[in-house]
Amino acid sequence: MFLIKHLKRGYNDVLNILYPRLCLSCSNVLYDTETEICHRCLSQLHLTGFDIKQNNPVYERLSAIVNIEKATALFVFDKSGIVQELIHQLKYNNHQEIGVFFAKTAFDYLTENNFFDDIDYIVPVPLHPKKQRQRGYNQMTEFGRNLGNFFSIPYTEKILLRKIYTESQTKKNALQRRENVSKAFKIAEPEKYTGKHFVIIDDVITTGATIEACAETILNTIPDAKVSILALTMVL
Ligand SMILES: [Zn+2]
Repeated sequence: MFLIKHLKRGYNDVLNILYPRLCLSCSNVLYDTETEICHRCLSQLHLTGFDIKQNNPVYERLSAIVNIEKATALFVFDKSGIVQELIHQLKYNNHQEIGVFFAKTAFDYLTENNFFDDIDYIVPVPLHPKKQRQRGYNQMTEFGRNLGNFFSIPYTEKILLRKIYTESQTKKNALQRRENVSKAFKIAEPEKYTGKHFVIIDDVITTGATIEACAETILNTIPDAKVSILALTMVL
């Protein structure tokens, strides 16, 4: 047994030299005690610490445009910061393990304030099927799936769907963005979900137009539905 343990340790050391594990944010080699993200980067990743409703600017901003129950963001937005870099890696370089890391963080943080206590389904902002095919995945999938496992709530990409291809939002003003996305979503079999409470998950909320359109689609299509919102970060 002692020998096996030793061999295994040696094997891991060799693996580490051949294929060093790298920090998902800064790409420095990780120490044994570090997982996914180095201590230095972690120290620069700040949780918002927002309550669900009191003194919560995410809730205040979003509840002013759509009738939601709860809303929060996990991390403080920082334009040149670690959270942006991690979301970029998750979105464009298919580092799905970052989604798992975010889910673990969310679990620790949101258990305390009972955010998920009355939630029935976790749904992501859907990508258009064409975009999802190009990218090969929805960047929120692993985050949502792991979050669902931790809280024992179903995560599904089959209820809230995107129907119209919306052009790139970047060159549009706020009003044009809203018009562009307001008819972009639909619900599969709305009658099956009467009275259910959905949490919509998203990576970065900027104007809130997309999340508003998703929330309105659920509220207008599913009888007696409720909506809450959880973002990784929000530009405030
Ligand atoms: Zn790092």
